[in-house]
Amino acid sequence: MLQLSEIFYSLQGEGTFTGTPALFVRLAGCNLSCDFCDTDYSLKFLASVPEVVEHVRREGQGCPMVILTGGEPFAQTQTPELIDALRDDKRRVHVESNGTIPVSLAGDVWLTVSPKERLHDTMAQRADEVKLIVNGRVPLEWIDRFPATTPIFLQPEGNKPANVALSVEAAKAHPERLRLSLQTHKFIGIR
Ligand code: SF4
Repeated sequence: MLQLSEIFYSLQGEGTFTGTPALFVRLAGCNLSCDFCDTDYSLKFLASVPEVVEHVRREGQGCPMVILTGGEPFAQTQTPELIDALRDDKRRVHVESNGTIPVSLAGDVWLTVSPKERLHDTMAQRADEVKLIVNGRVPLEWIDRFPATTPIFLQPEGNKPANVALSVEAAKAHPERLRLSLQTHKFIGIR
């Protein structure tokens, strides 16, 4: 069984696909415990892979995009099976991961990596986009771990003005490499 925190229909608020309708499947649990983490990824219910696929169908009103998030989705061994089942159901699967657990993914799965510690090179090389959390400082030390063509977004923690200012300055200083990504869903009061 999969351990789940929530499943809901909203818009992607961050990164390359900002503004795109998507089903969010939040898997419970994480293998890290970052002190700035503000995500409730506690276990709320259990469901089998077919039950999650059915839940996504019911909730998603035909929406093709499904985002697996957490917590850390790959902390659960059944997540690759869920990805395959969603792809079989004609969903476009995105995964948001901290990049610590190496997993082999089909080419059509979109992988967002947000490194905090113990980044695994397999996931760094596989990432389609990178999200760096700016929380009092810009963690530039991660940049060289990713291929030069991988887009890197700076995301100010909590959309706080000081973190936004740091992000803007860093993006301007590294225009070939960095972009700003705000949590737009928070501006309009959606999840
Ligand atoms: S990796 Fe992400 S979900 Fe896990 S503790 Fe850190 S910020 Fe929270």
